[in-house]
Amino acid sequence: MRHHTRPIKLFLPIMALLLALAPAAYAKPKIVLLATGGTIAGVQPKEGEPGYKSGEVSVDQLIEAVPEIKEIADLTGEQVANIGSQTMTNDVWVKLAQRTNEVLKGDAAGVVITHGTDTLEETGYFLNLVVKSEKPVVLVGSMRPATAISADGPANLYQAVALAASPEAKGRGPLIVINDEIHYAREAQKINTTQLDAFKSPNAGPAGIFIGGKPHFYFRMMSPTPRRAHFPWTG
Ligand code: ASP
Repeated sequence: MRHHTRPIKLFLPIMALLLALAPAAYAKPKIVLLATGGTIAGVQPKEGEPGYKSGEVSVDQLIEAVPEIKEIADLTGEQVANIGSQTMTNDVWVKLAQRTNEVLKGDAAGVVITHGTDTLEETGYFLNLVVKSEKPVVLVGSMRPATAISADGPANLYQAVALAASPEAKGRGPLIVINDEIHYAREAQKINTTQLDAFKSPNAGPAGIFIGGKPHFYFRMMSPTPRRAHFPWTG
């Protein structure tokens, strides 16, 4: 009997160790979604109608609309505002930047911000100046409201979460995801008010693209968050 004791003695601690490590190995990256409104949260009065109202869908509804996200991230949502981004204010900006910095100091792997496209580039540029973290910050919007046929918001949101959860996105400064493209937020501009490929980075080109739900970067900016451009802001 004695020769059985050693394997059993080893087996039990090894099993205990594996059981202890298993949840960590399977844990998905924690991502926090800060919602501010926009067309991505927009609703038409009647399906198929061209008119709609921005900032109608809640952050919880946005998350529920894309159940596939649960497979790639542990996502929680917070409603920072629910407005059309043409009415963006300094107060919302400050709240958004403060919350982004706070969240990134904790155990979250990244932040996703849903935003209207009209002032997405301004918010992205501002965050590029004041976010003090190497963790990914991804801004995302859509050109069609949530109730539209072939709404682009759900796929854009999925990609934004996948990007925020990707180690590849670290240390690049805030990014914008829309229409299968990734842009450095400080380079992006809205150049079209009706089509899905509304954003371009005329001076630098796109930062990368999405293929099969995965981000592929073309290049890394030498200085994504230049220290000298940072505001001396402690928020
Ligand atoms: N007016 C909308 C906004 O900026 C446009 C959009 O989201 O595409 O909130």
